[in-house]
Amino acid sequence: MLSDMLRANYPSLEDFFNAKAMEFLDKCVSCGECLRNCPMPPVVLGDVTPGKIMEKTARFLKYGEDSKEVYLKAFGCTLCGECSRSCLQGIDVVEVFGKVRSEYFKRGEIPDAIKQRETAPTYNPRTISAMLMKPSERRWMDAWSIKPSQTENLVFLGCTLLFHPHFTLPWLDILENMKVDFIAIGGGPIEKGRGLCCGFPYYLSGNTKMFDKTAEDLISIFKRFNPKRVILTCSACYHFINKIYKKLEPLKIDFEVKYCGQFLLENVDKLEFKKSVNKKVYFQPSCGNRKANVDDVLHKLLGKIPGLTVIKGPYLCCGGTPKVAFPEVFAKTVPVFREFLTKRVIENECDLLTMGCQQCALAFSPYLVEGQPFTIESIFGIINEAMGGKKYENRWLKYWKCKSEDEIIEVSREYFKANGLTEEEARKTLAYILSWR
Ligand code: SF4
Ligand code: SF4
Ligand code: SF4
Repeated sequence: MLSDMLRANYPSLEDFFNAKAMEFLDKCVSCGECLRNCPMPPVVLGDVTPGKIMEKTARFLKYGEDSKEVYLKAFGCTLCGECSRSCLQGIDVVEVFGKVRSEYFKRGEIPDAIKQRETAPTYNPRTISAMLMKPSERRWMDAWSIKPSQTENLVFLGCTLLFHPHFTLPWLDILENMKVDFIAIGGGPIEKGRGLCCGFPYYLSGNTKMFDKTAEDLISIFKRFNPKRVILTCSACYHFINKIYKKLEPLKIDFEVKYCGQFLLENVDKLEFKKSVNKKVYFQPSCGNRKANVDDVLHKLLGKIPGLTVIKGPYLCCGGTPKVAFPEVFAKTVPVFREFLTKRVIENECDLLTMGCQQCALAFSPYLVEGQPFTIESIFGIINEAMGGKKYENRWLKYWKCKSEDEIIEVSREYFKANGLTEEEARKTLAYILSWR
């Protein structure tokens, strides 16, 4: 949109971060209010209070003074943006920590798990997807087989949606039933360091140059479809494209950017509900929903489904984003996340649990094997069911019942074979799969 193009005034992510850091250094009064509202386990070591951490952040940015607390805060960040929302000086604190990460990246001082992800990645959405679905089930263009043509609505699935068929397939069913003119494309790598991705991994590692490059690649592919609007299925992709890409002048965003929930809510008259769901659902917003400011959109959308009573929970982090840098943090936060949520769903006598993020659902789902008095369902799955559509199974649940890696390989053999993967290639995905257990 022209108005967005006029607001795009930074040549690169680094320039955007620099502006946010300058504003911070100029206005921060070290009150610590931002970090008092941070959902991550308090990095308050000894007498290091939130205000002190912000003072240390300023000293790091001004004089390069190293600080363990600032490092942990920056790389352990979920990117939820609560700090930015809490600052009375209007400082965009979440982006200040982005600047901190980029400085550490330049020094080569990034957490080992991120280094390993960059040099020997175990995460490849293409192969993980091949463990869960057959090629015939994919109704989108893959990153490696794009054939552009004109469309009004370009639906970008991002990378993680590729291995959550119970989210993605009902979403596409809904769009088809609404008779929307759309083309869906999936994300994921094409070659090392390149592919269709919003750049989230580079944003997290502080690699601002690769973020810029990835963003350019993604937008140039989008533009080949000449879309009126791009609809993002992942709230994190939406956040980056809507908040950050629009500020980057070289990207020249000239299409509307919509989050999937926003698109459905604005076109709710086209959702032809055929039955009443007659269920009570507990809706858990994610850090991605918070950072993109779409948790209320999803809540309202759920409220439109006939026969559905909705209880909205407080935002809670599963630990999935900090897991990229500190897997040990995830190991500590995920049991708390699972137990807290289970208690809340049961206390509220809900039949269903739904999440605003596919990765949070993945983090929770191993707990369902314990036998809970409720089930988990994607928001798209609930809407599709109310529209009389097909119900898709959550294939991850089969993995959590497996007692060994060999059993997982047997359960997924029909899928990876259909995708032309060898057993050896399939086994390479197990590190990622089991990291969610
Ligand atoms: S709330 Fe704002 S002013 Fe207070 S410490 Fe945080 S960034 Fe500084
Ligand atoms: S964005 Fe990061 S630092 Fe800010 S509140 Fe969320 S987790 Fe904490
Ligand atoms: S936000 Fe996550 S799911 Fe979306 S493209 Fe980026 S890395 Fe992939």
